[in-house]
Amino acid sequence: MDMNTLIDMHTHHERCGHAKGTIADYLDAGAKKGLRVMGISDHAPLFAEPEDHPQPGIQMARSHFDGYLDEAQELKERFARQLDVRVGVEADFIPGTEEVYERALEDRRIDYLIGSVHAFGDYHVFRPRTWKGLGRPEELYEHYYATVRAAARSGLFDVLGHIDALKALGPEVDGALDAMVDETLEVIADSGVAVEVNTSGIRKCGEPFPSPAILRRLHEAGVPLTYGSDCHKPDEVAFGWPEIRSMLMDIGVDRLITFEQRQPKSVALE
Ligand SMILES: [Zn+2]
Ligand SMILES: [Zn+2]
Repeated sequence: MDMNTLIDMHTHHERCGHAKGTIADYLDAGAKKGLRVMGISDHAPLFAEPEDHPQPGIQMARSHFDGYLDEAQELKERFARQLDVRVGVEADFIPGTEEVYERALEDRRIDYLIGSVHAFGDYHVFRPRTWKGLGRPEELYEHYYATVRAAARSGLFDVLGHIDALKALGPEVDGALDAMVDETLEVIADSGVAVEVNTSGIRKCGEPFPSPAILRRLHEAGVPLTYGSDCHKPDEVAFGWPEIRSMLMDIGVDRLITFEQRQPKSVALE
């Protein structure tokens, strides 16, 4: 890859149970691809559940979280000459659990938090079998976008993850989405939270999360943008970056945002 590869702020590894390779494998891959800043952001434990590891294969166990932050911290130092490593997590946003998450994620080792809507009520964004029993298909999107708005308003997160991910597998609803998306973008812009361009969308449905049209509107509304491959294999680090870079430059984006100790730090897009 080329020198223009800047950052990748959304990466996973084997702790969550569905990604391959160690954190060091991903950092090695990032260093080889010439990344300047790389964020480690595995799936946070389900902190609000009574069990230590309620969903093996989806998130890490709560009892593994401290070891995760320690290892990430250690690798940050080990890789310091090659990469600026930032330590983060991708946390599920679950309405009603805000205080539990706020306490659990208050840790000096954490540079940034990505908040993502995966499950919302009884539904799951990537599991169509959970959508049975829906009345109108629009309802699914209404629940989804209401949860994304609640995530933005919660103030818990630095970045919102894959904000239009339901489009990957969701039912066709034609024009019904416009008003929901409008309202959601307004809430995001008011909240001050950043939004990632997530290229797992390209792997899942041929375009990034969110779509170029939404990204343009976010940028015009002054919402800070960041980029993440959402890699679950080391060779997916920086996935899709060259096309995202030119798309962002077309839109007029000249900086991307990263975070260090929960403070925003922007990087020029060259
Ligand atoms: Zn994952
Ligand atoms: Zn996610």
